[in-house]
Amino acid sequence: MPAKNGPPEKMLFQLALRRRGISDQAVLRAMEEVPREAFVANADRADAYRDSALGIACGQTISQPFVVAYMTEQLHLQKSHRVLEIGTGSGYQAAILSHLAGQVLTVERFRTLADAARSRLETLGCDNVEVMLGDGLNLPANLGEFDRILVTAAMVQIPDSLTERLGPDGILIAPIGPHHGVQTLVRITRKGSGLERKELVDVRFVPALPGIAREL
Ligand code: SAH
Repeated sequence: MPAKNGPPEKMLFQLALRRRGISDQAVLRAMEEVPREAFVANADRADAYRDSALGIACGQTISQPFVVAYMTEQLHLQKSHRVLEIGTGSGYQAAILSHLAGQVLTVERFRTLADAARSRLETLGCDNVEVMLGDGLNLPANLGEFDRILVTAAMVQIPDSLTERLGPDGILIAPIGPHHGVQTLVRITRKGSGLERKELVDVRFVPALPGIAREL
């Protein structure tokens, strides 16, 4: 099929998100404004607005649009928020976050992916996003607190090192479960000195792995 990402395709994309239950207007607008075709492999451009995950470099994936919209909606973002994303991948989710939050720090363990995402986000003018090469499971202490934390790689459990970085009333969302199989999207909310946990929906993400990736 030839690539055709014109208006009809984008209208269907919006319709599909609404039909699946995304109702936050600001989230729908961000999904409309960010060109997903800029984040997928050239060969997949014709499929950019289908509701499916696609392969990207380094054996990783760009998430399914519904899941991106759903996680974003669950974060209840405000323009004042400082957000941490673990698992930059293509940079698509970071671009969506950049439209709704104040500042976004996104961390990726593959240099190839981090560099590509950084240049895409720059080209698109997402200048409130910083892409960092690093290990989201072992972040430097000096990054400070975040209002929102979004993990987009599967973790067997939520490390204390992440919940400790949540500011007051902070929300963390992460896919928790086995590395290969189905995980549950879990939402952690900081309430005073405690943490509230809610299980949302089943998802499938590539695993969160330790350390900076070695590349050829
Ligand atoms: N949010 C991405 C999709 C994430 S795919 C997008 O919008 O395209 C998951 C990504 O997490 C992969 O790129 C993988 O390399 C990265 N990742 C896995 N473990 C990580 C870790 N410990 N620290 C940082 N990134 C990690």
